[in-house]
Amino acid sequence: MLERGIRMLKTPVFAAPAANAALVASTIERREPRANDVLIEIDYCGVCHSDLHQVRDEWGASKFPMVPGHEIVGRVKQVGAKVTRFQVGDRVGVGCLVDSCGTCASCQRHHEQFCEKGAAMTYNGTEMDRVTPTQGGYATQVVVDEKFTLKIPDGLDLAAAAPLLCAGITTYSPLRQWNTKKGDRVGVVGLGGLGHMAVKLAASMGAEVTMLSTSKNKEADARKLGASGFASTKDPATFTKLAGQLDLIIDTISAQHDYNQYLGMLRPYGAMVLLGAPPEPSPLAAFALIMGNRRLAGSLIGGLAETQEMLDYCAAHKVQSEIEIIPMQKINEAYERMLVGDVRYRFVIDIASLRQ
Ligand SMILES: [Zn+2]
Ligand SMILES: [Zn+2]
Repeated sequence: MLERGIRMLKTPVFAAPAANAALVASTIERREPRANDVLIEIDYCGVCHSDLHQVRDEWGASKFPMVPGHEIVGRVKQVGAKVTRFQVGDRVGVGCLVDSCGTCASCQRHHEQFCEKGAAMTYNGTEMDRVTPTQGGYATQVVVDEKFTLKIPDGLDLAAAAPLLCAGITTYSPLRQWNTKKGDRVGVVGLGGLGHMAVKLAASMGAEVTMLSTSKNKEADARKLGASGFASTKDPATFTKLAGQLDLIIDTISAQHDYNQYLGMLRPYGAMVLLGAPPEPSPLAAFALIMGNRRLAGSLIGGLAETQEMLDYCAAHKVQSEIEIIPMQKINEAYERMLVGDVRYRFVIDIASLRQ
């Protein structure tokens, strides 16, 4: 709803007009920055698998027209009167969240992703007024509260930093939750957008990383990214050879697979963390957990403080994404290529292509 007299910012975007429709060039209006807002000129936006799921309404309740994109990086163009953390020209990022209530127990614990009122998602959601739709980063600019704006440290390449805002924090957070350190043995299941970040981050923390993949042709890449071992999950011998060997398994697969088999690869007290969501429930045998006090857990992105910690960590340890830069106009083709795993390992949209 527009109040008369409030100036809106015309913003070129690429949007999905309806479920399963191709994305097309369009225009939306962003709000004029309020006192606590920053206006960000977007340089790059990463392409996450969840963009594709939501554009195709695979999770239900998608809202159209939809401007996807929650791996946003750019520069501050304007700041509101009360903004204290940012200045015009600063390199900044926006991830999966743009607001939360700020007062509930989860927000107080810096777990804004679990805000009890429901955090405002960057797109395909609403602002906390529950009326104004949110629209994402396939756009020339975005207006966000400074509390939900992240600093991109100088050491990071801006384009390669974009996927850190979702894929990076999604894999960093569980590695930190399980205190990954030198000498730990970490298995990473699946070498895609998430998996490649999990390998790089775990290796940077000093872990001995084993890539667990169905495709043998990913072995060379996995080793380049930092894995010291590779095992084919199509070979039943893998599960006996690695039985009881791993401290932590980061599972990025969203296709059906047998968790019991993977749990057997954990050492006593080891944990397997699910980041991928298969569409159907999967049977679990209690003994797969009881024998060896093994844990099966899940993990979802991270709060704002942890996301900033991850960005600072990545700058200090020279960790960034492997990317393929595309112009905005190639997005529909990129979605098709993602569906067949034809990307190493994240598409990043050069938003300059939207300004021409
Ligand atoms: Zn994402
Ligand atoms: Zn809250």
